[in-house]
Amino acid sequence: MTSAGPVSPTGSADLFARAQRVTPGGVNSPVRAFNAVGGTPRFIRSARGAWLTDVDGNDYVDLICSWGPMLLGHAHPQVQEAVTEAVSRGTSYGTPTVPEVELAEEIVTRTPIEKVRFVSSGTEATMSAIRLARGFTGRDTIVKFAGCYHGHVDSLLAQAGSGLATHAVTSTPGVPEAFVAETLVIPYNDPQALAAVFAEHGHKIAALITEAAPGNMGVVPPLPGFNKLLADTCREHGALFISDEVMTGFRASRQGQWGLDGAHEGWRPDLITFGKVMGGGFPAAAFGGRADVMSRLSPEGPVYQAGTLSGNPIATTAGLATLRLATDEVYDHITAAGETIKAAVTETFTAAGLPHRIQATGTMFSVFFRDGEVRNFDDANAQSLPAYTAFFHSMLDAGVYLPPSAYETWFLSGAHDDRAIQTVLDALPAAARAAAAAFDQSREN
Ligand SMILES: *Cc1c(COP(=O)(O)O)cnc(C)c1O
Repeated sequence: MTSAGPVSPTGSADLFARAQRVTPGGVNSPVRAFNAVGGTPRFIRSARGAWLTDVDGNDYVDLICSWGPMLLGHAHPQVQEAVTEAVSRGTSYGTPTVPEVELAEEIVTRTPIEKVRFVSSGTEATMSAIRLARGFTGRDTIVKFAGCYHGHVDSLLAQAGSGLATHAVTSTPGVPEAFVAETLVIPYNDPQALAAVFAEHGHKIAALITEAAPGNMGVVPPLPGFNKLLADTCREHGALFISDEVMTGFRASRQGQWGLDGAHEGWRPDLITFGKVMGGGFPAAAFGGRADVMSRLSPEGPVYQAGTLSGNPIATTAGLATLRLATDEVYDHITAAGETIKAAVTETFTAAGLPHRIQATGTMFSVFFRDGEVRNFDDANAQSLPAYTAFFHSMLDAGVYLPPSAYETWFLSGAHDDRAIQTVLDALPAAARAAAAAFDQSREN
């Protein structure tokens, strides 16, 4: 499939070289640089439905979907129409607008939150939720899980310290140790570590933050009842439970991960963060929750938080159009497409003798290049990265654009039709064999 419009006179390789001269690593978000898999990132010129077209004129089935947001596929006609109409009336006023009220109502209707505040990125959402939790409780300590990603918030760019200490160490230069001194990191899906950290520090803990179902170390679903245990433990100790649904929100299911557990088990997080799908491909994110907690936020309360482009009318129009079009049929379609691909992965990987483990939550799934259940970050790390690299490049050469990292969710959309899925299925056998060869070779070395 080739889209209309001129092909750029320069290809991905030339553009990458140009980009590297003026931008660190040539990219504006690190994973895009292909560092984990090697090779040259493709510069995408256009996208439609399930397909990406690069500046070199190649088409790819997109299994990244902008890292989650494009739930309906690219350039959905009704989203485009709503956005185009909104743009024709100006792009930002710095005043309250209609679409932000409508999007807030839509989100409050779909989820267990009572009030919501819009921001421009998932990072801003988690950062603001943490500040609000600290302001509300008058406590400083935050608990997070190893392998959960919450954006590049200073206090959350922390990893588990060595030995018995759960106190965090910074995971990047540029974050002073003092900024993570109040962050405690524990392993995911580990009720004993949870009990221990709350037994020792419970009275100082402002909040526990977790990915509602981790998708940033590959998909690692919460064990049955784990999120409920988190909610109960937080309540017992007067801490807030922050469920980060930036990835899972309106993606894992119509009601996000909460629709898969909390809705049935009868609990709700104190605060939830959203992003990705709710922005419909524009920079929009949100945090929300209990009315009494949210009312501590400025201007109702004393906890300061603001944003020049927060609730931007174009972004909220795109998000609103996306959520209104995200019907049960869309989720059913994505589920069915995922089942087809998962079955083909199982079949082709087994035939190639390639160890693998598929994990899913709702419509989200990922493939680990190892055998056995993956319950936490240590388990996720025990997979074969050389096997993934070989697999990734074989798929890319066959026209399938997977995430350029073994630790990511494979994203589908309502636009992944039979032709797109068939392209994936056709590419799998050779890619599985290439991965199996790389796996065996890395074992021998
Ligand atoms: C993507 C993501 C974020 C960060 O969102 P940005 O918009 O990239 O800042 C935070 N939390 C989770 C769970 C995410 O997947």
